[in-house]
Amino acid sequence: MARILDGKAIAKQVKDELRQRVSQLRETGLVPKLVVVLVGDDAASASYVRSKSRAAQDVGIDAEVIQMPANIAEDELIRALERLNEDNTVHAVLVQLPLPAHLDTDRILMHVHPAKDVDGFHPVNIGRYATGTPLLWPCTTAGILEILERSEIPIAGRTAVIVGRSRIVGWPTAQLLLAHNATVIQCHRQTVNLREYTRQADILVAAAGQPSLIGPDDVKVGATVIDVGINRVGGHLVGDVDFAAVEEKAGAITPVPGGVGPLTVAMLMKNTVHLAEIHQREKEGFR
Ligand code: ADP
Repeated sequence: MARILDGKAIAKQVKDELRQRVSQLRETGLVPKLVVVLVGDDAASASYVRSKSRAAQDVGIDAEVIQMPANIAEDELIRALERLNEDNTVHAVLVQLPLPAHLDTDRILMHVHPAKDVDGFHPVNIGRYATGTPLLWPCTTAGILEILERSEIPIAGRTAVIVGRSRIVGWPTAQLLLAHNATVIQCHRQTVNLREYTRQADILVAAAGQPSLIGPDDVKVGATVIDVGINRVGGHLVGDVDFAAVEEKAGAITPVPGGVGPLTVAMLMKNTVHLAEIHQREKEGFR
């Protein structure tokens, strides 16, 4: 039976540590502030935003949610982002995805200033982690590292297989594991004979958004299985991994819910505090 990697407990540790850092910042007169821009009224997005606000409150970060109508014009949204870029009390800006179809997501994300880009989606920040000088890592990817490190699962020299290559999760996670000296195999929708690759994984990351994509025959005995999927099936949340069957074979596994999800939110807070600390250091440098 696999060791269950308890994301909720790890996220709590992360948040406990952050509370300390936030209170130190507050003592110097700086209140870390995160602004979440929510466009439209997608129920799932609204619920993610609520859990982000709750986590912020929990660690002492000031979180503001700016709600925009679903039919907002692209230029108006960009102007709102530029106002946030100029606002010195704001350290972190997040545009909740997905955006309504009439908006050009790439164009909009380019208008979040790289120094406030808490999600790490701006091309400058992608370039930074791609060239080995990361300002920060996207939250889910950072959360996966936090789970592996705090669970003392070694990365260097091991074979990591990532199923999925999305800009938000799969691709940055492959880059992060490569930066930590794993041998990385990235699989995607066009991969022929997925199982041939996943069975080689010491660390298997499933980020495809397909329930039951990974079953016991897809996993090597003793592997660490990180399930990033969040799929709604019959009113329940399930991952991309057939948990009950894979648990018998894996060495360690994250549950859904209660695995990667809580870490994604916790790392949003950690990235916010990181950006606020940099802001503070730069301000001191100018004195
Ligand atoms: P997320 O945001 O969770 O990463 P996306 O829907 O943006 O989800 O991306 C899904 C990724 O998973 C894509 O890169 C796609 O190629 C990959 N994928 C989806 N289905 C499969 C599959 N059956 N086998 C391998 N890769 C898949």
